Amino acid sequence: MADDLSEVLYQPEEIEARVKELAAQIDSDYAGKNVLMVGILNGAVMMMADLTRAMHEHCQMDWMAISSYGSGVASSGVVRILKDMNAPVEGRHVLVVEDIVDTGLTLSYLLDNLRSRNPASIEICAAFRKPEAVRAQNVQVKYLGFDIPSDFVVGYGLDYDGRYRNLRGLGILDPKVYSG
Ligand code: 5GP
Repeated sequence: MADDLSEVLYQPEEIEARVKELAAQIDSDYAGKNVLMVGILNGAVMMMADLTRAMHEHCQMDWMAISSYGSGVASSGVVRILKDMNAPVEGRHVLVVEDIVDTGLTLSYLLDNLRSRNPASIEICAAFRKPEAVRAQNVQVKYLGFDIPSDFVVGYGLDYDGRYRNLRGLGILDPKVYSG
């Protein structure tokens, strides 16, 4: 897999260290609150697993699966919920765990949906964020791993055509892989 990257952005150790810092921050912010962590499948699986195991406070884990409407590579921001959470949201402190925020449109739609269920609070944790999300300000990421360039990246849960999710670091996929 590593041969298919044009550049390694973060080594596994760097991601691990940053995730531990985020876990400590979340522990402190949500002490005694039994935060409801909602992972967005499939990309957030690695982040969720590492983050929650680095925490010392109690937390609950739940999952949503979504798919974007429409075709093409651009995010439309309108998403379809393929799998909803099992836990009720009302009155809970919810922390949405996402792999990467690009335009922020997907998360912005999801947040509106979750807010309508009356949580006590709702925040976002994302492993990576692209410049467009910073520019557009569609969503505020309270707990962020790393700001990265706008290139197409894989690893740490992020795939290309279903592959590379199990790559431990994060890298830019060499265009030769998708240009044939
Ligand atoms: P947004 O709605 O923020 O534009 O899109 C977010 C979603 O697009 C992410 O959850 C992820 O599935 C996908 N995405 C955005 N950038 C990348 C990338 O560089 N690599 C991969 N594998 N997926 C990405």
